[in-house]
Amino acid sequence: MKTRPGVCARKRRFASETDALRVAEHAAVTLRPYRCALCRQWHLTSRTKGMKLPPFEQALRQERKSA
Ligand SMILES: [Zn+2]
Repeated sequence: MKTRPGVCARKRRFASETDALRVAEHAAVTLRPYRCALCRQWHLTSRTKGMKLPPFEQALRQERKSA
């Protein structure tokens, strides 16, 4: 994903995908971590189209299906 410098500067940064996922897991909205080409760290985006599901969300959907 292309990131504009302004977006990068405004966004919260995470040192690893795991850190970003931890926050995404507890967020009220659906978020996906992505690697930023500018700062080489991780940001979260709510644009999830075409992105693969993180493990915690796959687990959630699996639970909902079996419930
Ligand atoms: Zn960035």
